[in-house]
Amino acid sequence: MAKQYVDMDTLKFLLNQVHNLSEVLEKERYSDHDLDSMDLFLNSVKDFSDQELFPYFKEMDEQPAHFKDGKVIVHPQVGVMMKKGGEMGLISGVFNFEDGGLQLPGMMHTAASFIQDAANNNLPGYTGLTMGAAELIVHFANEELKKTYASRMLTGEWAGTMCLTEPQAGSSLSDITTSATPTDDGHYHIKGQKIFISGGDHEYADNFVHLVLARIDGAPTGTKGISLFVVPKKRPAADGSLSPNDVITAGDFQKMGQRGYCTTHLMFGEGEDCRGWLVGKPHQGLRYMFLMMNGARIGVGRGAAAVATAAYHASLEYAQERPQGRRLNNAGRKDANAGQSLIIDHADVRRMLLLQKSIVEASLSLVLLASKYSDLLHTATTEEDKEKYKFLLELITPVVKTYPSDMGVVAISNGLQVLGGYGFCSEYILQQYYRDIRIFPIYEGTTGIQSQDLLGRKAMMENGKAIKLLAGEMMETMQAAMTFEELKPYAVKLGGKIQEVQKVLGFLSEFAKKGEYERFVSDASLFMEFFSTITVAWLWLDMATNAKQKLVAGDKTFSTEFYESKIHTMKFYYKYELVKTTGLAEALMDDEVLTIATDKKVFV
Ligand SMILES: Cc1cc2nc3c(=O)[nH]c(=O)nc-3n(C[C@H](O)[C@H](O)[C@H](O)COP(=O)(O)OP(=O)(O)OC[C@H]3O[C@@H](n4cnc5c(N)ncnc54)[C@H](O)[C@@H]3O)c2cc1C
Repeated sequence: MAKQYVDMDTLKFLLNQVHNLSEVLEKERYSDHDLDSMDLFLNSVKDFSDQELFPYFKEMDEQPAHFKDGKVIVHPQVGVMMKKGGEMGLISGVFNFEDGGLQLPGMMHTAASFIQDAANNNLPGYTGLTMGAAELIVHFANEELKKTYASRMLTGEWAGTMCLTEPQAGSSLSDITTSATPTDDGHYHIKGQKIFISGGDHEYADNFVHLVLARIDGAPTGTKGISLFVVPKKRPAADGSLSPNDVITAGDFQKMGQRGYCTTHLMFGEGEDCRGWLVGKPHQGLRYMFLMMNGARIGVGRGAAAVATAAYHASLEYAQERPQGRRLNNAGRKDANAGQSLIIDHADVRRMLLLQKSIVEASLSLVLLASKYSDLLHTATTEEDKEKYKFLLELITPVVKTYPSDMGVVAISNGLQVLGGYGFCSEYILQQYYRDIRIFPIYEGTTGIQSQDLLGRKAMMENGKAIKLLAGEMMETMQAAMTFEELKPYAVKLGGKIQEVQKVLGFLSEFAKKGEYERFVSDASLFMEFFSTITVAWLWLDMATNAKQKLVAGDKTFSTEFYESKIHTMKFYYKYELVKTTGLAEALMDDEVLTIATDKKVFV
C-alpha cells in the first residue's frame, strides 16, 4: 500500500486561497463557523480516514460484498463508517441546526468527503447515500415523514438509498414501471423491482429507507407521471417497533471495482404488502430527484477526483523509489559506469506524473468550485446573485460529473503505466484504483447523457446566458493573470479558446435551429471533452495566478516550491492538454456525418 493518499496542502490551498472559503463563511447561515474551526474539522476527518478507512481499502476489495442465504454480507468496517461517521456529523454536516445538522458549507462537505473517498472509496457511499435520501425527505416530505425518518438517518442508525434504475429503465427514466396504488389509509401499495441499488442492504443499519421512483396508477406516461415515495425496509410503529414491509433483496451484483460497496437488486411488493408514502406532490418525483441529483453529480465528480488523486500519490511514490535505465542526458549516455537512474528522472515518466497531477488537482478545484456556486446560490440575498449562481451551477454540473470521471480513468491508466509490469499485478494497488474508477463515467448519468445535457440544454439556456456568465468569470481570471509577464501568454491562449467555444456553439446551434436535433447532439461527448478541457485550463490559470500572487507577496503559508509547482503544472496543462481542443473543434465543425444511423450497413 502507498503511504499517502491525499495532499492536504493542495486541498487547503484550493479551499482557502483559490476558492476563498472565507467568502462563503461570511454568510449569515455559516456564522457559527470560522476558518480555524473548519481546519480542525478537516484534520479530524483526515485522522478518521487514516485510522478507519485507508487501512481497509485493499481488504474490502479482496473480501467483496456478496449475497449469501438471503443476506447481503459486507465488511464490518461499514458498521464503523455508519456509526462513527454519523457521530462525527459526516451525514448531517450540511443540514440545518434545527434538523440536527451542523450547517456546514457545501464546500466543507466536499472537502471532507474528498478525503474519505481518497482513503477508501468503498465506504463513504454508505453515508453519502443516506445523506442524499435524508435531504430529499427534509426538503420535500411532510412533517410526519420527516419526524419518523430523518433524524435516525442523520445519526447513521438507519441507512438511505436512491432507487431509480429498473432493468428496462436506466438512462431513460421515462420507462419506469414500478407502480404505486393508492389506499384509503394514506399510504400506497408499491410493486416493482429496482436494480443496481447502492448500499441497498446489509446488517450494519437497523432499517433502510428507500427513496423510490414509481408511477401512481393512471399517471401520465413518460417522465411527467413519476412520483417519489419513502419505502422503508421495515415499517416503524408508534411504539418504536419495526415490522417487515415486503421489501426483498434478490441479490448483490458482483463487480470489477468498488467491490466492498454493495450493489443490490431489490423487489418491492412480491407479497402484495409493500407500503410506500408519497413525498411531496404526485407526479413531481423526477423534479425532486433531480434537485438532489445536482448534489449527487458533484459527489460523483468528487469521488472520481479522489480515487485518481490516491492513485497519483501511489504512482509518484513508486517512481521515486524504482531504479531503471539511465537518463538520456550526456552524463547518463557517456558514462558506462553510471548507476541506474530512478524512473522519476525519465522525461516520459515525468510526463505521465504531470498529466496525473494536472488532472487530479484541477478535478478537485472543479468540484470545490461547484460546491462554492451551490453555497453562494443557497445564501444569495439578491435576485441577481440567485440567477447568476443558478446558471453557473447548472452549466458546470455535467462537466463536474464528467471531467474527473473520464479523465480520472486516463490519469489512473497513466499511473498504472508508471509502475510498468508491477502496475498489472494484484500485489500493487494501482490495478484496484483502475478498476474502482471505471464506474464513475457510468453511474449518476453516463458520459453520453451528461454530454447531451451540457450541449442540448445547459449551453443553450436563455440564448447561452450561462456560457456568457462563465466566460465573464474566465475573463476576470485572465485579467489578473495578465498582470504577470510569466502568465500573460497563457491568459492570451485562454482568451482564444473562449472565442473558439463561441464559434463551435454557433456552428452546432444551426442544426438545433433547423430542427435537426439528432445531428445537433450527435457529437455531444466530443463537445463535453472540448468544453471541459477549456474550463479546466481556466481553473489552472486561476491556480497559477493565485500561486504567483502569493510568491510575489512573500506568503509563507506554503513553500516556494509548492507555489512554483502549481505554475509549472499549469504550463504543462496548456502545452499537453489544451492544444487537443484545436483538433476537437475541427471535428465538431466538420460537415461529414458518420455516426448517425441510416439504412447503410456499417457494422458488417
Ligand atoms: C455499481 C453501480 C451502482 C449504481 N447505483 C445506483 C443506485 O444507487 N441507484 C440507482 O437508481 N441506480 C444505480 N445505478 C444504475 C446506473 O445509474 C445506471 O447503470 C446508468 O444510469 C446507466 O443505465 P444502464 O445501465 O441501464 O445503461 P443504458 O441506459 O442501457 O446505457 C447503455 C449505453 O447506451 C448509452 N445511451 C443510453 N441512452 C442513450 C441516449 N438516449 N443517447 C445516447 N446514448 C445513450 C449510454 O450512455 C451507455 O453508454 C448503479 C449502477 C452501477 C453499475
